[in-house]
Amino acid sequence: MQLFSSDFKLGILGGGQLGKMLMYDAKRYDLHTKVMDSNQEAPCAKLADEFIIGDITDYDDVVSFGDKVDIITVEIEKINTDALMFLEKKGKKVFPSARTLKVIQSKSDQKDFYKQHNLPTSRFKNYSNLDELRNNFENDNFEFPFVWKSSRFGYDGKGVKIIKNYNDLNFSFENECLIEEKISIQKELSVIVARNISGEMKCFPVVEMEFNENSNLVEYVMCPANISNDIEKRAMQIAMNTSEKFNMVGLLAVELFLTKEDEILINEVAPRPHNSGHHTIECCMTSQFDQHIRSILDLPLGETEILIPGIMVNLVGENKVEGNVIYKNINDIFDIPGVFIHIYGKKKSRLNRKMGHITIVNRDIEKAIEIGKKIKKKIKVVS
Ligand code: ADP
Repeated sequence: MQLFSSDFKLGILGGGQLGKMLMYDAKRYDLHTKVMDSNQEAPCAKLADEFIIGDITDYDDVVSFGDKVDIITVEIEKINTDALMFLEKKGKKVFPSARTLKVIQSKSDQKDFYKQHNLPTSRFKNYSNLDELRNNFENDNFEFPFVWKSSRFGYDGKGVKIIKNYNDLNFSFENECLIEEKISIQKELSVIVARNISGEMKCFPVVEMEFNENSNLVEYVMCPANISNDIEKRAMQIAMNTSEKFNMVGLLAVELFLTKEDEILINEVAPRPHNSGHHTIECCMTSQFDQHIRSILDLPLGETEILIPGIMVNLVGENKVEGNVIYKNINDIFDIPGVFIHIYGKKKSRLNRKMGHITIVNRDIEKAIEIGKKIKKKIKVVS
């Protein structure tokens, strides 16, 4: 089937900024896109060829959407996987697969998966609820401090707590959760690996992520990471092994901890374009979005080589009360060389909502980092 300038329809579940950026490349190829999201004002709404209001967690909505497209992909994990499984059984192409998404939706299942497949990750124990944890963790030989996580629906650090003593477990939580050994982290790294239907794989260069201490959100992504060739190679190998074990088609973003002892451990993965790959639009020969499209259409993958180093700075809402967004001082950075501004198109800003990002490129990564950190202080996303 001819894919370009044809009746072929690419279905994207979720209409956020990742979908919007995916669509820039889909448009470049003149692919017909159909997107579903429950929010009429989602960033994709005006860009998609067809935009459907619907609930991505609802079985019937997902099945009825999937029936009308040729390939289904996602820009967010929280999709009804039973519906995707049904569509797969009917012969629909779903990338990532329903099975992969189902595992990744649960941090506990992800950890079991790594263990089963001998992929390196921190020591952990899964529990069905907090009471079970309170009654058992001592037998499991976990020393304080350890890290507690909700298995499901945590994101950007929500649902993660450092437990320093028994009293810290004094909160109520009825659902599945897990504890992990607290790692002495040297750096947080990410590798995005693409795998197409034929099994061709390519990694993007390893990046270093810096998180905001209060919000736990990624604040900066630096490309390339300041690591040795040996660590880069090992990180890429782990990412490729993980993608293979999931039998992935599409992108897999593999978030890693580099420990103080130079060990590399998988923290978690995301089977879609990722915040740690936004810089690829300007810094790499192929963007993560282009690569995702190539993977799921079984086209040859693009070169991932760095054209120019860069830093990505997230723009997040700083206003506690939701209101119409204002990007304070944004006009003042247009004259800085190497600055690329991305505004996602969300009308309302609220605390820690991802509203946009800025990539700063420079032949000298240190210079890019210096400019990026100044810009972060200058721009205020408020209402
Ligand atoms: P989320 O999915 O909400 O982003 P993560 O599981 O990635 O949550 O954890 C958020 C952050 O907490 C990580 O980026 C890391 O800084 C810290 N963290 C998570 N797990 C551990 C661990 N086992 N040891 C030390 N720090 C951790």
